[in-house]
Amino acid sequence: MNISNKTEIAREIKDTFDLVSPFIEKHTSLICPDCKKVCCADKHGRYDSDDLSFLKTLEVDVSQQKSGCNETGQCRYITDTGCSLQRWMRPFRCTSFFCNPLLKSLENDNAKLYDAFNEYYQHLLVLRQRFTDEKLPS
Ligand code: SF4
Ligand code: SF4
Repeated sequence: MNISNKTEIAREIKDTFDLVSPFIEKHTSLICPDCKKVCCADKHGRYDSDDLSFLKTLEVDVSQQKSGCNETGQCRYITDTGCSLQRWMRPFRCTSFFCNPLLKSLENDNAKLYDAFNEYYQHLLVLRQRFTDEKLPS
């Protein structure tokens, strides 16, 4: 793969999130409804500068972010039916968190599916690092 600029990397990140998301959601739908300590605190739903750069590169307007939320209170993006954001639009610190029960559930799925997920997820981490390191404007 020859990814040479921020726009191409950002598109690849989005596409890779779209690939891994159904597998993750299959397991969050199994595990999260019984969770006693939901991890969606507002501090996890806040974009850092790399998130903002990523979203801006894909022309996503995040200027409407709510302010004034308590960092330990409910995330600004939570709704009665879960997160209101598609996975690729969530802060990276949020999408990189897997609690132990969720990790176990992912690992206990079909080995080939889990291996494929793991491969794509590692690819995602490499892409995110490349995006962060890429200095040239798109
Ligand atoms: S990911 Fe883990 S900690 Fe977060 S809501 Fe689901 S079960 Fe709870
Ligand atoms: S962005 Fe979504 S998944 Fe992440 S902490 Fe907020 S509500 Fe939860």
